[in-house]
Amino acid sequence: AFDGSQTHDWIRRFAESVYATEAELTELDQRAGDGDFGNNLAAGVRAAGLLLDGTDRTAGPAKTLGAVATAFLDEIGGTSGPLFGLLFQALSRAAGSGPELTTAALAEGTAQGLAAIRRVGDASPGDKTLVDALAPAADALRAGAGAPPEEALAAAAEGAWRGVRDTASLTARMGRASYLGERATGIPDPGAVGVALFFASAAGPVR
Ligand code: ADP
Ligand code: MG
Ligand code: MG
Repeated sequence: AFDGSQTHDWIRRFAESVYATEAELTELDQRAGDGDFGNNLAAGVRAAGLLLDGTDRTAGPAKTLGAVATAFLDEIGGTSGPLFGLLFQALSRAAGSGPELTTAALAEGTAQGLAAIRRVGDASPGDKTLVDALAPAADALRAGAGAPPEEALAAAAEGAWRGVRDTASLTARMGRASYLGERATGIPDPGAVGVALFFASAAGPVR
């Protein structure tokens, strides 16, 4: 189960995973965008970490996730900052006042986050954006109802990585990669990698 303290640790591991892959994320966005995604995501997890330093670890998961949402929504530029912020905000809302993050709350929050991101960004699956990683993660969490959150999150991470691989063969229809047309084909979408890192970090640091 994910109580407030374990949710804290999850976000810390996500930050470590982002720092470990920052250079690769930068390179992906250089090849399929404007090169600032690694920097944007690292700034997001750094700002989130600073807010978490001043947050009670034993407060519920909603508090922790809400702090992360605030960091991304208020401080991070680029297209991805606010979009990641919407995911964390939806997860925080779904966590409610409970002491633990249940599989049902994770499924609800991820589905609501996906819906909010799609409303704001107007991307559909197949447009080569982070939606292509988030949609299969949301599906896996819904299918994992009844399973412990650790198991459901492992399936979500698998789905997200599958989504990342699928973005490589797509031609972007949204975001800066779409300006590059066929030139970005073959390159996985950096935002989708960021989403996969988040779900994969539930189990441990990625690299
Ligand atoms: P920017 O393109 O403003 O520099 P970032 O580099 O921070 O933004 O983020 C790029 C990522 O944002 C892309 O890899 C993609 O996953 C995601 N993205 C871009 N446009 C959209 C959109 N309309 N809907 C969903 N995600 C998007
Ligand atoms: Mg960019
Ligand atoms: Mg930019």
